[in-house]
Amino acid sequence: MNITATPFDLRLRHTFTISRGSRDIEPCILTEFEHEGIVGYGEAAPSARYGETTDTVIAFLRRVDLRRFNDPFDLDTILAYVGGLAPGNTAAKASVDLALHDWIGRRLGQPLWRLWGFDGTKRLQTSFTIGIDSLPLIEKKVREAEPYNILKVKVGVPNDEEIIRTIRKVTDKLIRVDANEGWSTKEAARDKILWLEEQGVEFVEQPLPAAMNRDMPWLRAQVHIPLIADESVMVLSDIPGLRDAFDGINIKLMKSTGLREGLRMVHAAQAMGMKVMLGCMIESSIAISAAAQLSPVADYADLDGNILTTNDPFSGVRVEEGALVLNYAPGLGVERR
Ligand code: MG
Repeated sequence: MNITATPFDLRLRHTFTISRGSRDIEPCILTEFEHEGIVGYGEAAPSARYGETTDTVIAFLRRVDLRRFNDPFDLDTILAYVGGLAPGNTAAKASVDLALHDWIGRRLGQPLWRLWGFDGTKRLQTSFTIGIDSLPLIEKKVREAEPYNILKVKVGVPNDEEIIRTIRKVTDKLIRVDANEGWSTKEAARDKILWLEEQGVEFVEQPLPAAMNRDMPWLRAQVHIPLIADESVMVLSDIPGLRDAFDGINIKLMKSTGLREGLRMVHAAQAMGMKVMLGCMIESSIAISAAAQLSPVADYADLDGNILTTNDPFSGVRVEEGALVLNYAPGLGVERR
């Protein structure tokens, strides 16, 4: 059993800006897990927000020695070993988890959603992300988002209201808003959210910095639409502490260390009455298709990272009429283009 890692660059259709910064290229790492002649694919999309870069992912994966195991189905043992190698490194860990899951599906000839017993005919709408931009470019992007029924709008900058007004001039589509920790006081967040409610916004993601979780129950009591945790939640053990702070959680495989922990998080959130959103980084179809395997049991999807790029080396889950369409290909349901 062996795993290899190959860095590659995803090129972005447009410069992508959120409240933290801008970029044109997203460096990712392809992992390939080979055993008994079958190759499973995984991917790491490292995020500086969580202390990862291509170099940290490669350095971590160099330490992963799967030759000590002989049964890829023994995920508990293997992933406990990978998880224990170092703290953090969640995207690097996810790339191992994804490759193992893909291998298992390919070995059994079934997509993961079928192995998990999910209803694969359920087509969850996914939002299309509108990054922060000049107002004319935002208008252009909204028009490009034609096939999508839901827009996820990045805010958390001084001209938030102008951004939303510009979009509302062009479309009456459902809008979700992501502040990416961009509002710095709870009062400012309250004022912004009350205004957004009047614009018909469905929910707001991560209004305050993760370090301000303590202020969230106050904020939640002041507003009427759901507040979803993103930067405030990484893994399963974070969820109980957020029960009074948020109405739901955004699960991203690159934060959760992969599908195994991600599925546990779905169950935990639902047991606590919290909504489940599936999110992504800028990723290829490998990681997007992996997250989509969970879509039949999620409430909201924001799985558009691959669509924001121009050189996705893989194909997998498709979007039809704004909804994720799972396929019957084994594992993550992906293949090289
Ligand atoms: Mg977010």
